[in-house]
Amino acid sequence: IPIDRYRNFSIVAHVDHGKSTLSDRLLELTGVIEPGSNKQVLDKLDVERERGITVKAQTCTMIYNHKNKDYLLHLVDTPGHVDFRQEVSRSYASCGGALLLVDASQGVQAQTVANFHLADDLGLELVPVINKIDLPHADVPRVTEQLFDMFGLLDPVAISAKAGLHVEKVLPAIVERIPPPTGKLDQPLKSLLVDSWFDPFLGVILLVHIVDGKVSKGTKIMSAHTGFKYEVKEVGIMYPERVSTKNLSAGQLGYIITGMKRSQDAHIGDTFMQVNHPVEALPGFEEVKPMVFLGAFPAEGANFEQLEESIEQLTLNDRSVTLQKESSNALGQGWRLGFLGTLHASVFKERLEKEHGGSLIFTAPTVPYKIVEKDGTERIVTNPDDFPQMTSGAMGVKDLQEPFVEATIHTPPEYVGQVVQLCQAFRGQQSDVEYLANGQVCAKFLIPLAELVDDFFGKLKGATKGYASLDYEDAGYQSSQIVKLELLVNGNSVDALAKVMHVSQVDEKGRIWVDKFKEYMRYQLFEIILQARCGNRIIARSTVKAKRKDVLHKLHAADITRRKKLLAKQKEGKNRMQSVGRVHIPQEAYQGFLARD
Ligand code: GDP
Ligand code: MG
Repeated sequence: IPIDRYRNFSIVAHVDHGKSTLSDRLLELTGVIEPGSNKQVLDKLDVERERGITVKAQTCTMIYNHKNKDYLLHLVDTPGHVDFRQEVSRSYASCGGALLLVDASQGVQAQTVANFHLADDLGLELVPVINKIDLPHADVPRVTEQLFDMFGLLDPVAISAKAGLHVEKVLPAIVERIPPPTGKLDQPLKSLLVDSWFDPFLGVILLVHIVDGKVSKGTKIMSAHTGFKYEVKEVGIMYPERVSTKNLSAGQLGYIITGMKRSQDAHIGDTFMQVNHPVEALPGFEEVKPMVFLGAFPAEGANFEQLEESIEQLTLNDRSVTLQKESSNALGQGWRLGFLGTLHASVFKERLEKEHGGSLIFTAPTVPYKIVEKDGTERIVTNPDDFPQMTSGAMGVKDLQEPFVEATIHTPPEYVGQVVQLCQAFRGQQSDVEYLANGQVCAKFLIPLAELVDDFFGKLKGATKGYASLDYEDAGYQSSQIVKLELLVNGNSVDALAKVMHVSQVDEKGRIWVDKFKEYMRYQLFEIILQARCGNRIIARSTVKAKRKDVLHKLHAADITRRKKLLAKQKEGKNRMQSVGRVHIPQEAYQGFLARD
C-alpha cells in the first residue's frame, strides 16, 4: 500500500464521551477483532479496563477497503484524562488528523476544548463525530451548532458507538478528510520513538513512527539521544497485538525489537536513524514532570525484595513514574514514587495492591515545593520530611513556593456561584469568566496544585450535580505561605506523616490529626503524648492513657497453659511494633491513619 493511502489518526474527546467504545467498533469493522469479542481492546492494562480509563497511549493498525482500494489506518488511542496531557500531545505528533468526538447529550466539555486546541495547534485535521445519538437526551442539532460556533467544524458524523449505529460512516470520513503522512520513502531512515515497554523475554520494545525511509530486520540503527547502536531483530505492526512484518516504511507506526536491555535507554521523543546515514534529529518532546509524590513502604511481614522487584517492573513499563529509595523512622525502608497526577498515582497503587494485597503502606500524596535559599539557590522538595521547619524568613530560606495550575471549568450558568465558592475555598483566584456558544460558562482559576490533588474534582462534581467539567494546565511556582505540619509521638516527629500545607490550614488539620491518630492507639501499655506541631508551635495535644488490655479476664485462674499462651501472644504483639524514638507504635496505627487521610 503506497504512503498516500496511509492515514494516521487519533481520537480526541472529553473523558467518557466514548473514545474506547468507538475504537473497538472501528477495529471490528476492519476485521482486526471479532465483533463483540472483547471490550476496550486498546485499554490493555487491567486497571484501564476495570476503571474504564485509558492510561497509556496505544496504537493499532487497520486495513480498510475504500472504493476498491486498500488503506492502511493507524489509530493512536490517547488517554482522555488531564493527568496525561503530555502523553496526549506526544501521540498527536504522529498523526495527520483526529476524530473530535463529542457526546450528543453533554455537548462540548472542558477537555474537548483543551484537546481541540492541542490538536489544532499541531496542525491536525479534525473530523467532528457526535456520539451517543441513541440516548434520550441526545441533541444532535445543538451539538452540531456548538462544533461550528466553537471550533468552526462542519459536517459532523452522528453515530452511536455502543449500538453500532452509523459507525461505518466514520471510516470513509477518515480516508477522505484526514491527509496522509508526508514522509519520504527514498530518504535515509528517520523515526520518532513514541512509546516503549519492557518484555521479560525480548527486552525493550520500541514503538516508533517512521517519518522517512524504512527499517527492517538487520538494519543497524542509532539513537540520536544516547548515540547507542543496535541491530534490528524484528519489526512489525500492532494488530492489535504484535504482528511481525518485513519492514516498516515512511508514514507507518509500528514496533522495533533491538535487544535493548535497559528501559532507561529508550527516551520518548528520541530519533532513531540508520548507522552511517545521519539525519537531523526531530525536535522531540518536553521532559515529563511528575507532580504528585508519595512514599510506599512494606507492611509488617511483607517481602521487601519481592515488592522492590515488582515496583521496578511497573516503573519500567510506565516511563512517567519516577522512583527513589526512601527510609522512614516509623515505616523503615521504602520507596518514593512520582506521578503525573492523582489518577495516575491511584492507578499505579491499584496495580501494586492487586499484586501484593495489603502488604504496602502508602503515605499521603504531596506536590513538589520549591525552596529558594538566601543565596538564591533553588531546590525542589518532593518529601515533606525534607521541608524546612520554620516559616519563610528563618534559617537561610528566602522564599517558599508551591506549584499552581490554571484550571478551566465548564459549568451550566446556574452553578457558577457554587463553583466560584468552591474555588475560593480551595485557595483559587478567578482569572476569567466567559459565556460560551454552548450555553455554558467557562471560568478560569489560578489554583494551587496541592488543592487540586486533594479531591477538588470530586467536590466540583458534587457542587454542580455532576455537570461541571475540568481541565487544567501547569502555571508554574508562586510564593506562598506554606508550612510543615508534623505529628509528634512523645516529642518525636513521625517523618512519614509530615505534610506541607498552607498556613491557614494547620490549626484545623493539627487537631484532626491528633484525634484521628488517637483512635488507632487504644490499648497502650505506656502513656503516650501526641502532638501536632508547626514550626515551634504546638497546635494540638492529647494524651493516650496507659491501659493494659486484659487478655486473661475471661479465663479460669487454673487454666495455666492457656494463660501462658495468651501472655506470650501479647508479648509477641509488642515485638511486632515499630519504634519512633523509644515509643512503640503498632503499625496498624500508621496504616489506619494514612488510609483515612
Ligand atoms: P472514553 O472514556 O472516551 O474511552 O469512553 P468509553 O468508550 O469508555 O465510554 C464511556 C461510557 O459511555 C461507557 O459506559 C460506554 O458504554 C458508554 N458509551 C459509549 N458510546 C456510547 C453510545 O454510543 N451510546 C451510549 N448510550 N453509551 C455509550
Ligand atoms: Mg477510554
